[in-house]
Amino acid sequence: MPKMNAGVTVITIPPPTANGALHLGHLSGPYLASDIAARAAKARGEEVLVVAGVDVGQNFIATMAEVRGIDAGGLIAQYRSEILDAFTRGRIHYDAFVEPQEPAYVRAIAGMVADMARDSLPMREMTLHRCSDCARTLHHSYVAGTCACCGSPASGGSCEGCGGFTSAETLIDPVCDRCGGVPVPFEATVPVLRIEDHREHLMAMWLRAELPSRVRALIAYYLSAGLPDIPLAYPTNWGIEGSGPLAGMRIDVYAEVGLAWLFGVARALGSSAGTLDECVEAWASVKELWQFHGIDNAFYFAIFWPALFAAAGLPQAPLRGLVVNEFYTLEGKKFSTSRNHAIWAHEFLASEDPSIVRLYLAWGRPDRYSTDFTRSSFEAFRDRVTPLLAGAGARVAAALPAPLVEAERQRGEKALGLVGFDPALAARSLLAVLASGGIDPGPVLSALTGAGAV
Ligand SMILES: [Zn+2]
Ligand SMILES: [Zn+2]
Repeated sequence: MPKMNAGVTVITIPPPTANGALHLGHLSGPYLASDIAARAAKARGEEVLVVAGVDVGQNFIATMAEVRGIDAGGLIAQYRSEILDAFTRGRIHYDAFVEPQEPAYVRAIAGMVADMARDSLPMREMTLHRCSDCARTLHHSYVAGTCACCGSPASGGSCEGCGGFTSAETLIDPVCDRCGGVPVPFEATVPVLRIEDHREHLMAMWLRAELPSRVRALIAYYLSAGLPDIPLAYPTNWGIEGSGPLAGMRIDVYAEVGLAWLFGVARALGSSAGTLDECVEAWASVKELWQFHGIDNAFYFAIFWPALFAAAGLPQAPLRGLVVNEFYTLEGKKFSTSRNHAIWAHEFLASEDPSIVRLYLAWGRPDRYSTDFTRSSFEAFRDRVTPLLAGAGARVAAALPAPLVEAERQRGEKALGLVGFDPALAARSLLAVLASGGIDPGPVLSALTGAGAV
């Protein structure tokens, strides 16, 4: 029975940056998992709103366009279309899609940061860095160095090694990643999110929320080392242009993504919200927020965005849990777009049965630890599971005794709840049920394969 007036559960799919197609590593992480969880929750009768989008604010796009000598707009259009193709072929459903190039969106985001700069985040002087040679402001793809938290090599933004925050100001031995130049400090008056100001609010939220141990370890590091100050806008050459007190600056891309969820959810809930206050008001009907992401973005999901939402004026932290994945490797090596060591999701889904691809990636999901995709393992899985999906059941596999089949069916259904979400377990339960033949596997089958209406 659906609960009356219980409010909506918001599930976010992270917006892929439009500088590459999605590969199977991406698909095995937040993209498939969020869809499986949303389908299972809807089958339980819960009110769910899934929000997706695409990111064009990362200066990795500018860097790729410049390095290849092509137009950034064309690059965005090509990868945006490949990303959406992967969503469609992978049966990744969403209820709302945030379009980052729509003028109303661009105006709203710039206006929201300007409102915060006037109100909750007064402008402060902050030391930033620019390149001694090419003069770029060193942020995101323009800077590289060593993560101060774990010692891994990292660009600006976040560290793949530990999920920590990285910037020209926090990296060890930073250099300009575009020309090799040396960072030169400069003072800028910018809107700064002082996460320390929200420590108590965050502590209360972290105690309530479902968070994996590696995320809690990262939080523990920042509680001890100090929560950082983050500029929400600064002078640079890529990103949404600031307005009002922020004229001449660009909005930080991670600030943009967080506010995009405030805006996108408010609009999807039927509000004509355009201002920060209107968006915050619309969020009153959000019961809980579940976010799906890879461990490399842990700082933003666990620390930065909850602090940003608090600074934006959300009275209650909506975050109820993070569903986090570790890395998925391909034949033992990291997926790499730049080295072309990847299997592109839209291409693979065009040549293989999406039900089998979804089941296989759920079965081997890298959630508790890193896992590996191999062609031979996928093919063995496909050969075994295809007849099971066709109903061959006990004719092709060893059947379980009936009481165990029912236990497997129930365990699979429970494993798709948002608390304790475990699609790898649900996939195993489903295969055991199918192998016994003649038993309705229930909503677990449609949640995992994506077959059927949402
Ligand atoms: Zn440079
Ligand atoms: Zn690190």
